Amino acid sequence: MNSVSPLEPREIFQDWVTLRIKIEEWQIRDDFAFTVRVKDNNRVDYICRINGCDWRVFASRNQQSEIQLKILHERHSWIGRARTKREVHNSQAWLRRTVLQHLFVTRETTAREIIELLQVNYGVMVNTEAARLARSALIKD
Ligand SMILES: [Zn+2]
Repeated sequence: MNSVSPLEPREIFQDWVTLRIKIEEWQIRDDFAFTVRVKDNNRVDYICRINGCDWRVFASRNQQSEIQLKILHERHSWIGRARTKREVHNSQAWLRRTVLQHLFVTRETTAREIIELLQVNYGVMVNTEAARLARSALIKD
């Protein structure tokens, strides 16, 4: 499904910059923001900027002194995080991805169905305009 890591779980990197670029690409692809929790010569710990989200990627030097990835949690946890509503749930990227996981959107699909779907499954209210936009983008003729 969606939002699975674009990186191999134990991928090897030759330098920290390459790793960072990959993480930045992932961030853009999935529309989230990361922050660096720990970084020194031997390890880096990336976490999602949204407080309480489980997404976490760690990398450290292995015995060959290569930088080895360890994806601790490749998915974001959106559920029950009231503080992230505004930041996350009106994000079109999130909306579209999430709606697609539950609905085959056609011209008959209404914005109200989308709103209810998100309310029931995720406990969040999105505004009508955001739901309409997502609907238009996802319609399959
Ligand atoms: Zn997250």
